[in-house]
Amino acid sequence: MLIAKDFLILRGIKADGRVSHALERKPLKVATLLDEEQFNRNGHGLLHNRTVFFEDQMHDWAWANGRFRYFSRVAGEVDVLIVYELVDVYFCTQCGGKKESLDAKCPSCGHALAHNPAPAPN
Ligand SMILES: [Zn+2]
Repeated sequence: MLIAKDFLILRGIKADGRVSHALERKPLKVATLLDEEQFNRNGHGLLHNRTVFFEDQMHDWAWANGRFRYFSRVAGEVDVLIVYELVDVYFCTQCGGKKESLDAKCPSCGHALAHNPAPAPN
C-alpha cells in the first residue's frame, strides 16, 4: 500500500480548469479524497477507489509557475489531496503487521513472504 508521507489537502475545490490555486511546489501525485476518516485511520494509506481516487496529470490536473489547476470530472466541491512524497508499505499475510519491503521478514511474527502483497486490513 502506498502511504502519503508529505502531503496537503486543498479543501472545497471545484473542478474547473479556468480557476487556478496558489500552490508553491509541483505535486508528485494528485488524488481526490474519497474517505478522509479511513485515510487517517490507516496511516494516510492511498487505496485507489477507497480512500482516494488518483487523478492523471494533464487529463485531470496541471501545475505551472506556482499555480495548480484541477479539472477532474467529479461533480460539486471536493477535497483534493496533494502528495509530495510517497512510501510503499506491505502487510504480512500471516499477522497483518506492516513490513517495510516485500522481501523483508515480518517484524511482528517473523513470517517471510515472497509473493504478492496482501490487501490492507480494515
Ligand atoms: Zn507477521
